[in-house]
Amino acid sequence: MEKQLEWAIHMDKTYYMNVFGDRIPVAFTHGRGSYLYSTEGDKYLDLLGGIAVNSVGHGNARLTKAISVQAKKLIHCSSLYYIPNQGELARALVEKSFADKVFFCNSGAEANEAAIKLARAFFAKKGAPRAKFITALKSFHGRTLAAVTATGQEKYNKDFAPLPGGFFYVPYNDISALEAVVDDTTCAVMLEVIQGESGVIPCTAEYIQAARRICTEHGALLIIDEVQTGVGRTGTFFAFEQMNIVPDIATLAKGLAGGVPIGAMLTTDAVATTFAPGDHGSTFGGNPLATAAALAVLEEIDKKNLMKNATVIGDYFKKKLEKVQKNTGAIAAIRGKGLLIGIELTEPSAVLLKQQLFEKGFLVGSIGDKVIRLAPPLILTKHEASSFISAFEALLSTKNT
Ligand SMILES: *Cc1c(COP(=O)(O)O)cnc(C)c1O
Repeated sequence: MEKQLEWAIHMDKTYYMNVFGDRIPVAFTHGRGSYLYSTEGDKYLDLLGGIAVNSVGHGNARLTKAISVQAKKLIHCSSLYYIPNQGELARALVEKSFADKVFFCNSGAEANEAAIKLARAFFAKKGAPRAKFITALKSFHGRTLAAVTATGQEKYNKDFAPLPGGFFYVPYNDISALEAVVDDTTCAVMLEVIQGESGVIPCTAEYIQAARRICTEHGALLIIDEVQTGVGRTGTFFAFEQMNIVPDIATLAKGLAGGVPIGAMLTTDAVATTFAPGDHGSTFGGNPLATAAALAVLEEIDKKNLMKNATVIGDYFKKKLEKVQKNTGAIAAIRGKGLLIGIELTEPSAVLLKQQLFEKGFLVGSIGDKVIRLAPPLILTKHEASSFISAFEALLSTKNT
């Protein structure tokens, strides 16, 4: 058994590009619900969910059945032909949202890339091109060249110059900064409702509402990146629904097909008609397999009331973590919504704590050296959440004594 893990590490170090550094020394063979099982026979409670991807858990019956039934029939055929699942999934997303039309691709970065192209073309085709894109500092929008330029963190894009032009950054949650920079030459403002990759930092309702108002005043488009927050994670299908705004474009990816790669861009008819045949496309995007998986995920979320569960378990986490904060004095802040939670520590011990939790059978994420991130499957139970809280509190307490 030991050999299996050693071999996996050896092969990775020898043949795989070193973009992930030293990974956590474990390889999983299978999963069930919110648990993952390793080659060493160990069981882990998965509180990161493949970074907000495994929305309906591991080995979900509806999802695995939909994938295997579809795989036996037809995996891929290209969008040169009509794909019934594609239309069904597009309808499901339209019915859940402000949007009239949907485009499918394969990742969050690609969904944002599509949104950036669509916004630029929207003005170019009117004969009044607008180059200027405004995004927030500490944002994350993906790794393709335009998406990584939209990402307001130098560490992600500094080595890839020349970057696409026209991108400007403003401090998050600062309404006057936005007012100062958005004008009649602004193409779009692109924002997350919660900045997941820089510490789970939520925007205020006033901020996102002001962004909507400022965009409307200047005829600019508002793009909301819901790649991490979408598909029920925060208790509503989109996080922006809780903020009383309607964007012009929204993007989804991570949790949408429960682990099968997919991305989606949603928009209104007024903007969607910008793209003419040939303007954009994707070989794999929205293929029969990926869209069958996403349809199963949406059905599972509805049938099992998982958005409600995200709210209930998220509130439970918050309540219990506040107690841990009082008892240990080791937590500076608890942030997030539903099952996207950031725990900021008072000490720079997030990486060590992640390692210690791993040794106790709990998988979490760390952001920088101070924030622990939780983005578990939306099926997580109170009992499972409680087992994590106990282990977490015990670790924080022993550190302080
Ligand atoms: C993960 C993420 C992306 C990028 O998604 P990929 O599928 O990795 O390309 C974009 N935006 C946000 C908010 C994300 O969390």
